[in-house]
Amino acid sequence: MKSLGYKIQYKGNTRRYLVNDRWVTRRNVPEYRKAQKEVDYKYLNSERGKIMEVITGIFGRPYSNNNRVKWIPELEKKDVWLIVMNHIARMKEKFPGSNGRLCFFCKKPWTYIRRPSNGTGRKQQVINTNFSMDRLDCEQTYKKGNIVCCCFACNDRKGSSTPKDWRVYIEAEKELKRINEME
Ligand SMILES: [Zn+2]
Repeated sequence: MKSLGYKIQYKGNTRRYLVNDRWVTRRNVPEYRKAQKEVDYKYLNSERGKIMEVITGIFGRPYSNNNRVKWIPELEKKDVWLIVMNHIARMKEKFPGSNGRLCFFCKKPWTYIRRPSNGTGRKQQVINTNFSMDRLDCEQTYKKGNIVCCCFACNDRKGSSTPKDWRVYIEAEKELKRINEME
């Protein structure tokens, strides 16, 4: 790497740089700091970065701030990553001409839009079209066979309804149809 023109000194194995008359570690050298920020930014805005952000969310602390128990995944991050990649491959096959980044439910393309931070530290507003992961049966945790890739809107609409609920709704629809036909 090109010399940045700072004096260098070692303290044990740690290299230190003389910046503005102070010995600092590499990560406090302005040029390195700027370069690292750019790398971080690029990663966060890459597909891998954004998918990993969603996966990391699944593996968040077992208890959230409001003390609600979060689901503890029964697989590893790399397994979830594989589920996403296989979903994309399957959708690509099913919908030739698409890039496979399609919601499992509505089949619309998902996005990775990141709103610029408003600097207030408040939670960013969700983007309905963004990539999301859903537990199909929301009474079961994240595990093989229960994870689908979808858009945020579909995930949100499905909410906390269970497979049992869906059957009840379908029966209700049929029943109402029968009633309407009789009248
Ligand atoms: Zn959708």
